[in-house]
Amino acid sequence: MKVFVLSKEGKCLMPTTPRRARVWLKAKRARVVRHDPFTIRLRFATQQHVQPAKVGVDTGSKDVGIAALANGKVVFQAEVHLRDDITKKMTQRRTFRRNRRARKTRYREARYDNRRRPDGWLPPSLHSKAEATVKAVRFITSFLSVGRVTVEVGRFDTQKRQNPDIAHLEYQQGELQGYFLREYVLDKWQRKCAYCDAHGVPLEIEHIVPTSRGGSNRASNLTLACHACNRRKGQHTAAEFGFPEVQAKARVPLKDAAHVSSLKSRVVHDLQAVFGESQVSITYGYQTKYKRIQVLDLPKSHTNDAMAIACEIGEVVKPLEMVHQIRCLARGHYQRFNGLHSEHKCWAPRKVRGFKLYELVKAKGGVGYIAGRREKGAFVIKDVISGKNLLEVTPRKLVRVARPTQGWMITRQPMLESIRKEGGASSPN
Ligand SMILES: [Zn+2]
Repeated sequence: MKVFVLSKEGKCLMPTTPRRARVWLKAKRARVVRHDPFTIRLRFATQQHVQPAKVGVDTGSKDVGIAALANGKVVFQAEVHLRDDITKKMTQRRTFRRNRRARKTRYREARYDNRRRPDGWLPPSLHSKAEATVKAVRFITSFLSVGRVTVEVGRFDTQKRQNPDIAHLEYQQGELQGYFLREYVLDKWQRKCAYCDAHGVPLEIEHIVPTSRGGSNRASNLTLACHACNRRKGQHTAAEFGFPEVQAKARVPLKDAAHVSSLKSRVVHDLQAVFGESQVSITYGYQTKYKRIQVLDLPKSHTNDAMAIACEIGEVVKPLEMVHQIRCLARGHYQRFNGLHSEHKCWAPRKVRGFKLYELVKAKGGVGYIAGRREKGAFVIKDVISGKNLLEVTPRKLVRVARPTQGWMITRQPMLESIRKEGGASSPN
């Protein structure tokens, strides 16, 4: 684990070892700026030789992986858990509004036709996710000097996708192409066995006309089959095996889909606005997968993927033992009154039994954040990573670990735990 260093003027310097940081702090030559990630600011002037860090971003709809590499080493890895309560909150706000309007009040002029969506408008739920992703990358600039930012935007390249039979030539050009082809075939056949429609079983790449009978490795000759079907089909062609439609579908090239989702293109666009167009590059899932499995030899996790995204092809780095977990939180709720005529005040006090909402606490050996407080009774503690209820416990048993800052709850966890807990929709291994 590295300690991040700011200069006397507050500029980002290269990270240092915990040992050196300890010496500086003890001699009062530096002071602590932040605990998570641990950052110090020097009290003496130094020369500023800084090598900008490379940052990799693994975007997602639930969790985002972020990694920063400086001097060929991983110095920062974090998993950002995005908010998924926006839709619910917007619906709630809408109902409140409708109720208010339906009440017997003064005449209100109709105001339904006076809003226009600006260019690049995203639904609020996606907007929040895109903003949070960009915010996480900007956060890194507060303790590291950031050079290149690489974002994964899709599983594979659309340009290549329009021309599926690149395979014949490029299949032989290195192993990376195999990864491209594999993603292509998985996508084209919708990740299921072409012969028995089996889902969620290990699938094999299958030659429609077997290689033993002159079949090629072109994309148009490949499909997916479960192990059982692959065995049974043996030396037959798909038509002989009783599936002429598979053979027919194979010849049709894949339709071009707008696979770069609006969320991802917004993230790339916003990052370009912050870091400059030349500093932000994009990459594809098949490249990440190749680097993670073949070069780095790591299990799938958002932070490992982010690391692979930041690496050049062939560059070998080791993941950190500790990964930062960042949960995006609401900054409170704003309901002031309830009752038919808003006659009941309903705001909770800022502190209940000394605790605020969303504080990180330790209880019964587990760590989580406070999601609900009762004046007389148990507090609801939720897990930082999954956001699920962890336990209900009396506030007497709680020990505060940290407070949320700027809509974020930051904590640290061993890498192994974050791999174990990974969930949600993401690409398969
Ligand atoms: Zn099958």
